[in-house]
Amino acid sequence: MTRFAASLLSLSITLALSPALAAPPADAPTFDPQRMSDMVKTLSSDAFEGRGPATAGEKKTIDYVTAQMQAAGLQPGGDLVDGNRGWTQAVPLLRAQISGEPELSVDIDGKPQALSQGEQVAIRAAMDGSTSVEIKDAPIVFVGYGVTAPERDWDDFKGVDLKGKIALVLVNDPDFETGDGDFGGKAMTYYGRWTYKYEEAARQGATGMLVIHETEPASYGWATVKNSNTNTMFDVVREKPSDTHPQMEGWIQRDFAVQLFKDAGLDFEALKKQAQSRDFKPVELKGETFSAKYAVDSQVITSYNIVGRIEGSERPDETVVYSAHWDHLGMGEPDAKGDRIYNGAVDNATGTVALIEMGRAFANAAEKPKRSLVFLNVTAEEKGLLGSEYYASKPLYPLGKTVAVLNMDALDPHGPARDFSTSGSAKQDLLDQLVETAKQWDLRYATDSKPEAGYFFRSDHFPFAKRGVPAVSFGSGEDMVDGGVAAGRAISAEYTANRYHQPADEWEASWAFTGMARDLQLLHAVGSDLANSDRWPNWSQDSEFRAARDATAAERK
Ligand SMILES: [Zn+2]
Repeated sequence: MTRFAASLLSLSITLALSPALAAPPADAPTFDPQRMSDMVKTLSSDAFEGRGPATAGEKKTIDYVTAQMQAAGLQPGGDLVDGNRGWTQAVPLLRAQISGEPELSVDIDGKPQALSQGEQVAIRAAMDGSTSVEIKDAPIVFVGYGVTAPERDWDDFKGVDLKGKIALVLVNDPDFETGDGDFGGKAMTYYGRWTYKYEEAARQGATGMLVIHETEPASYGWATVKNSNTNTMFDVVREKPSDTHPQMEGWIQRDFAVQLFKDAGLDFEALKKQAQSRDFKPVELKGETFSAKYAVDSQVITSYNIVGRIEGSERPDETVVYSAHWDHLGMGEPDAKGDRIYNGAVDNATGTVALIEMGRAFANAAEKPKRSLVFLNVTAEEKGLLGSEYYASKPLYPLGKTVAVLNMDALDPHGPARDFSTSGSAKQDLLDQLVETAKQWDLRYATDSKPEAGYFFRSDHFPFAKRGVPAVSFGSGEDMVDGGVAAGRAISAEYTANRYHQPADEWEASWAFTGMARDLQLLHAVGSDLANSDRWPNWSQDSEFRAARDATAAERK
């Protein structure tokens, strides 16, 4: 996911006018825009086939990134092989794919209507362990926002039996539309994420769940839903996958869902309003059923995180992590031009290259850092943060002694901005330090202007944050030095509409990379400061991540 895409609707920009860039601090290393451009061009070329996990594109990516990290002066920091660290960490993943075209239909008052995969609905390959799915005439039940939150005295299910049924659910959380309520107001809580919806559907015993896609609460369009859900699906390997996944998971187009409600004599908008109150009760779409039949090819495969490292000179067992995902969507449905390769130039060849160049800056420094630095290039972010989830669950270096995680995802390859942002604005010392350090470059912090999009849960820093490790995901700014907010918004709008998660996310010769070169100086300064201090940043007292961090306090004495 990308913060860059979200900045389209940014409203938090102030119009302070500084005519030129501030001079960087004298000790800041420089980052070479031309080299970054060359590397992004290579990584996002068609030869890398869109960098899908467990494809030929992965092998090429690992070979390239490893060679670049080595040339940059990093040491291998991955799994131990015969007592020595390799360049990778093996990440076992469940890979599931629908074989052929799924047979999908709804039956309205006895009249069957065939559905096309990717048109009215986008059905994900089953991840509950099923090798074939056959759902015949299943009743359809609207379950509002699909939330069970006892601490908020909220239960959308009210004891409804969903066995053998398909649950229809709204995306985001119950106070997204009103901006006022028990779920963080406009900001998205984890209850708003579709991952939560499916997990809850499994807990409720539903046979299937369809999330009703609406662009605003989802924060992305149908094209994104279609492209991310109809290709190969991945998950971490689970002991009992049906505890987490209902048999059928998918999305349904809003207009088509509205029609289904109408044909059942129901008013979608009125029911949505009801769903915003804790009195809501599930409603069956009378006279309508859903059928689905498809085979699922599922197997356990191995993908890899790529790990470079610089060992600290004084406290090598304490680690500062820079992270970025290398994967993108691979090959998939062709766009209007017939292009099937999802090159992922911005998302996330930029972050991968930033990681390599950050490694080079530290490796070339006159003095080694006192603490160790890890450059973690994770896999399967686009499949649901799986590479970072795996690392955080099986850390190569203990999380209790991991000082901080600075994640980079989908950086803006254009010129510099006068501001920067982060995915979510969770209160913590690390963010304060980033904001304070940025002042040396006259860079303003624009708080996450779209907390309702739930970006905090959508970047690779989150698996660390939820385990208490101080973590931020950096986002490029929007108030461009050249052209101001108008120029930044035009760039974001163009990217979101035409490129984001589409085959057209391709390298451009016109990209200057001077903005990244400047932003990497800032991120270097923050990491360098932490790597050479004995400070342990923490979350704010009232943060939901504070307790997890404090639980490992003894490790940091
Ligand atoms: Zn990304």
